[in-house]
Amino acid sequence: MKGVVVKQTDNRNELVLDDMPKPEMGHDDLLIKVHHAAVNRTDILNRKGRSGYAVNPILGVEVAGTVVDANDSQSFAVGDRVMGLVNSGGYAEYAVMPVDRAMKIPEALSFAEGAAIPEVFLTAYQTLFWIGQLQHQETVLIHAGASGVGTAAIQLAKQLRDAKVIVTAGSERKLQVCRDLGADILINYKEQSFDGEVRQATDGQGVDLILDFIGADYWDMNLASIKQAGRWVLIGVLGGSELSKVNLMSIMSKYIQLTGTLLTPRSDAYKAALSKEFAGVVTDYFKQGRIRPIIDRTFPVEEANEAHQHMEDNQNIGKIILDMND
Ligand code: NAP
Repeated sequence: MKGVVVKQTDNRNELVLDDMPKPEMGHDDLLIKVHHAAVNRTDILNRKGRSGYAVNPILGVEVAGTVVDANDSQSFAVGDRVMGLVNSGGYAEYAVMPVDRAMKIPEALSFAEGAAIPEVFLTAYQTLFWIGQLQHQETVLIHAGASGVGTAAIQLAKQLRDAKVIVTAGSERKLQVCRDLGADILINYKEQSFDGEVRQATDGQGVDLILDFIGADYWDMNLASIKQAGRWVLIGVLGGSELSKVNLMSIMSKYIQLTGTLLTPRSDAYKAALSKEFAGVVTDYFKQGRIRPIIDRTFPVEEANEAHQHMEDNQNIGKIILDMND
């Protein structure tokens, strides 16, 4: 079968579509004919050799496709349309997926839309509700609002908790999409300092929860934006991972709960439990069109390098999809 692997050419790590062995199924796996895969920042780190999570030379942590071998599963059959997380190996014609984390693609959605769901919606669900404990009508600050995770988080926070959603993004075009998805307060971080805007929008109180993809660059402004006893979930470090000087009293005196998380290295059991709960709660919202996956652009798999570059250039609003040309 064909699969996308990393090759070093002229000191650059390039993605190449190559002949690879078909993956071998374990007893608890489904074999999936992949129709679409999706691009994630973790794949870019893997391409650059900076992430240690890959268990397979083929990149990609999420797919949507058709079950071609269901083993003796009671829940899935050959021909079912499924989406979900894979333990790498997603940018390929065939992938194996542990059966207990596979999710049926809601009928109204295409394979491309199915591929746009798992990583960002599960991350948003996990950080808003499992870790962030977002409660009904609380206020949440979502950075990188037009990112894949951001577009999922805005919708989940609005639809499932009727939260007041404040977003930051770097252009009016991106903020408009956040507004269309339900965000209440829009801040262009390139034109305004977001902490002042957040305090104004919350009567000086700050927000209950921050989903932080930025890290170091936003440390002080996040501290100024969070409520007393607020929760702050660190999900990404797009703005750096090292702080030169931190006064830990600032966390203590505000009783802040600061938590970090990564989804890819979590255990199979954790991913299965998260996928199961997410599918149980959110599938009806997809069916009713109240929540939708946001696709920025679909690239043919032969253009995987261009797809990565598009993400590295911060051009996308929502997900970047790879079409496996089946
Ligand atoms: P994405 O779709 O590629 O969007 C990221 C956006 O962040 C960019 O388009 C850009 O939008 C903004 N951005 C980039 N650098 C920035 C900076 N220095 N300061 C402010 N904004 C910046 O990303 P994604 O796939 O949704 O992922 C979002 C983040 O979550 C990434 O850091 C990713 O690694 C992380 N993530 C973590 C987990 C986890 O389990 N912890 C899981 C999935 C993703 P603007 O034009 O608005 O600046």
